[in-house]
Amino acid sequence: MVDCIFCKIIRAEVPCAKLFEDDSVLGFLDINPINPGHTLVVPKTHYSTLFEISQKDLFACLTASQKIAVAVLKATKSSGINLVQNNYREAGQLIEHVHFHLIPRFAGDKFLKSWSGQPCPQPQLRKVLEEIKAELASSES
Ligand code: 5GP
Ligand code: ZN
Repeated sequence: MVDCIFCKIIRAEVPCAKLFEDDSVLGFLDINPINPGHTLVVPKTHYSTLFEISQKDLFACLTASQKIAVAVLKATKSSGINLVQNNYREAGQLIEHVHFHLIPRFAGDKFLKSWSGQPCPQPQLRKVLEEIKAELASSES
């Protein structure tokens, strides 16, 4: 993709702080980190979201993310890592080239203090359960 910033980084037209590279994946530091060591893992092939990426490239990205996460955890001496992946604007996706955030976490940092989940009425849970199961069943047939 000509105008995609991550494709430009992959083609080395825009610089990045590169941490990892293989045939299909690039890992580099986020330019505006939540915490120092915040890393982005991207497939070298352009896909917009999780819904387009091939299984092969998804596997490659997650395998690389696991490897890089170990290094980030040790190097930053953080006490946790979030693996975050946003799809579409409503979910916070700004760059439309699928990517995986590895965010090192420290006690007392301000990012995602807690999941803001709420108890859900049983009828609503059952309804969404059946709706998702129906979608899964139709995708398998
Ligand atoms: P999103 O909100 O799409 O999940 O996350 C996009 C991330 O890309 C943001 O955390 C942002 O800081 C990072 N980012 C945007 N432009 C650049 C860039 O040119 N270089 C690097 N290294 N990171 C970028
Ligand atoms: Zn791209």
